[in-house]
Amino acid sequence: MSRRPTVLALLAASTLGLAACGGGGNSTATTEADAANCPGDVLDVVVSVNQWGDIVRALGGDCANVTTVINSTALDPHDYEPTTGDIASFEDADLVVVNGADYDHWASDAVDNLDPEPTVVDAADVVGVEDGHSDDADHADDADHGSVNPHLWYSPEYVAQTATAITDALSDLSPGAADYFADRAAAWQTDLQPYTDELTTLQGLTAGKTYAATETVFDYTAAAVGLTDATPEGYRDAASNESDPSSGDVAAFEAALADGSIDVLVYNTQTEGSVPEQLRSAAESAGVPVVEVTESVPDGDDSFVQWQLGQLQQLADALGGGQ
Ligand SMILES: [Zn+2]
Repeated sequence: MSRRPTVLALLAASTLGLAACGGGGNSTATTEADAANCPGDVLDVVVSVNQWGDIVRALGGDCANVTTVINSTALDPHDYEPTTGDIASFEDADLVVVNGADYDHWASDAVDNLDPEPTVVDAADVVGVEDGHSDDADHADDADHGSVNPHLWYSPEYVAQTATAITDALSDLSPGAADYFADRAAAWQTDLQPYTDELTTLQGLTAGKTYAATETVFDYTAAAVGLTDATPEGYRDAASNESDPSSGDVAAFEAALADGSIDVLVYNTQTEGSVPEQLRSAAESAGVPVVEVTESVPDGDDSFVQWQLGQLQQLADALGGGQ
């Protein structure tokens, strides 16, 4: 499911420089380092999407000017067409961080055309899910965009692996700041602790529990906490390929919500449309709790951790373990 009128309207509004309602049309954003606090060279880092942008800011601190190209939930990264300004923002980068797995190929394409090419951290390469296969047996069944679920920032393990690769790249590019980056990495681990703790809490709540999802965004997290995916297969295949489910797929989903075989509905609020709304209504009618998630970091959330933690706490509440 894709191409919602609301998103297109917001995109058009942002192109005209108008503020989108609910806060959101703005795209590229740069945070400047305070060079006085950096013991080495300050690096220019460009990140394709804000799911990774906040993590890069935390790890780079005052030794990285971080430009995030897609910085709003009003834009759909799957369908994104970069502007010439977006492409130009890659030109002077020392380091580029992309998700990979064909999620933000526009960013990889922009980098391929640069001479010399900057250093690139590609999260999919780092975690080994590039080229349509996974080296990780736990993730081998996941499918999106034909083969690989690209929502890598929803995997706690992939986030950790990618963060390490980002720190390594920063240290290689600014060796004088290597100790600084090591300190930042340690501070990031501390920041991450509430998220890690909530994942552990959830692992104690999911025995025998199932979920179904309107989109595949949350699947890595669901797997990490031990939830079983009960999304009806036809619907799931359609959602994975960003195609429209058949009426039979939707009916099967509604039946599963009604018959008690689904404990939680995971609903991506960033992808609206009549079918997800219909499923949400079916869940509410059946008394199945709905957990709202988003593809990108919402405009109101300051950080990756705050964003993820809010979603995990909703899930804990839905599973009866909220405090
Ligand atoms: Zn997606």
